[in-house]
Amino acid sequence: NLILAFESSCDETSVAVIENGDKILSNIVATQIKSHQRFGGVVPEVASRHHIEQITDCIDLAMSQALVTYEDLAAVAVTYGPGLVGALLIGVTAAKTVAYAHNLPLIPVNHMAGHIYAARYVKPIEFPALAILVSGGHTELVYLAGPGKFEIIGETRDDAAGEAYDKIGRVLGINYPAGPEVDRLAHLGKDTFNFPRAMDDSESFDFSFSGLKSAFINTVHHADQIGETLNREDLAASFQQAVVDVLADKTVRALDAYPVKQLILAGGVAANKGLRERLDLELKAFENVDFVKAPLKLCGDNAAMIGAAGYVGYQLKQFGDMSLNADPSLEFDWIAS
Ligand code: ATP
Ligand code: MG
Ligand code: FE
Repeated sequence: NLILAFESSCDETSVAVIENGDKILSNIVATQIKSHQRFGGVVPEVASRHHIEQITDCIDLAMSQALVTYEDLAAVAVTYGPGLVGALLIGVTAAKTVAYAHNLPLIPVNHMAGHIYAARYVKPIEFPALAILVSGGHTELVYLAGPGKFEIIGETRDDAAGEAYDKIGRVLGINYPAGPEVDRLAHLGKDTFNFPRAMDDSESFDFSFSGLKSAFINTVHHADQIGETLNREDLAASFQQAVVDVLADKTVRALDAYPVKQLILAGGVAANKGLRERLDLELKAFENVDFVKAPLKLCGDNAAMIGAAGYVGYQLKQFGDMSLNADPSLEFDWIAS
């Protein structure tokens, strides 16, 4: 079974060829980061234009690197939401075109399910599982009852963790996306600022990061005004410690409430070293829970993860047709199987 997978929900144009849902034959990722950096974030119109320019080259490269022809393919999988509508439409249109031209089934994939399925490249998902999904637009605890059966048990009420990283990074003069550099600085500093850990004591599994972001920005601006220079490494360490504390505490409490076989860490922020180390430590107390981290290279947006999720959609016969449209605010829902 070979699936040609497409991802274009944000600022990465990606096409992959995946064998049996767990083997990457090719995974082409054309990033647009450079074009967005001078704006400090992703500009939707710029993103759409880049996707149009890149998509056919990505398809050609993915096919040639995988050494396959269209006759070898079993299906086409594509991210149809959530994400930027104009960006999503490029991938959806390209996938529909290939499916139509080569008479292949079309599998619509939820981008966030894709992030979770990046873990499939480490080992098979064992149900029930819990996913801590942290990315640029989402921060969620997701309960996975079975293949394709997702339930959000907690989510951010305001900013996503990745978004907070990018916004506080901007104040430190770090280019978008700031996550990796803040992570690096954090390991050189100490938590001296003791920023707020919002909702850490609450029973709810929801998150909130906008207060932390504001506290950080106010601290830096106040120091600027009185002509004081703060230690960047300590600022980064203090911010990261606050984020990691809340993410880890909520995950541990969710594991107490929902007995599962696996904990999956996924999404762009799952690449964070501090978070990976902390969860490694916390999971020692859960002997029966297997901790599966999405591979570092597959934490950010890519089509390989969409192909892995698409393979599950293929097995569940969740096919789309030529009426498939982009859904920018697509949510997880329970799918009977
Ligand atoms: P979503 O998946 O919610 O639609 P997205 O696709 O834009 O959003 P991802 O590509 O999954 O987000 O992740 C990108 C985010 O991950 C950015 O905010 C980036 O700063 C953050 N990030 C990447 N590496 C790290 C890191 N090492 N530490 C913290 N954050 C990181
Ligand atoms: Mg991106
Ligand atoms: Fe993403």
